[in-house]
Amino acid sequence: MWWRGLLFVLALGSSANAAAGSAQHYFDPAGNALVQYEPVWRALHDAFGEHAPPRIIVQVSGGQFSQFDTRHDRIYITAEYSESRAVAIVAHESAHLAAHNVTTGYSTQNQFRFIDEGYASVFANRVSGNEVAFKAWALEIAARQQRKDNVRLHLVQDWRTYWGSSRNGRGQQTEYAYPVGASFIYYLTDIHGAEAPMRFMKAIADTGDLHAAARLSLEMDGNELEAGWITYLAKVALQD
Ligand SMILES: [Zn+2]
Repeated sequence: MWWRGLLFVLALGSSANAAAGSAQHYFDPAGNALVQYEPVWRALHDAFGEHAPPRIIVQVSGGQFSQFDTRHDRIYITAEYSESRAVAIVAHESAHLAAHNVTTGYSTQNQFRFIDEGYASVFANRVSGNEVAFKAWALEIAARQQRKDNVRLHLVQDWRTYWGSSRNGRGQQTEYAYPVGASFIYYLTDIHGAEAPMRFMKAIADTGDLHAAARLSLEMDGNELEAGWITYLAKVALQD
């Protein structure tokens, strides 16, 4: 009776697919489901659980930068991106929306943006299958800044200065700020465990303070956290 077992397995498989496919999470402004981004949402839900927004609008805009709108769970992506690049952009901006939820809004504050952008960058590259190359690139750039004593908590906590914020595309942005932010996430995962970034973000929600969050989630004070991050980067070998 092997075929009965086979039919049973096939039936289970198709109903599981139907259940997974029935709930859509990404939509265009007209309400059409954007099924190409569903793998992003599954990864978002794996990482953020209930904090992943259940319905995200993706709007193509003419702006120079992709953006996110936490009040409406809406993402704006620039028109010129290819479809494969769009997946990474949608993942990046979706991580911002979920991080805003898990930190109860602290993630968008100047003092926490380096964590927010760092996590979003790591997540985007993980989801788009580019993480190995991205991590090597980001750690190399961050390690070069560390050699210049330009990796310090008080520096990255002034993200507007460290990155060079510019909503309209004018002004100067540094090329190292995002990789340095990503290196903080890699420091947390490599030294404190895969769950450490999420623990840290939840502790930010609970305390509203970076140093207090470090004590709560990592049992170390801010100075020890900074020293640990710097030591982690000091061990990155640089190509000449
Ligand atoms: Zn971002």
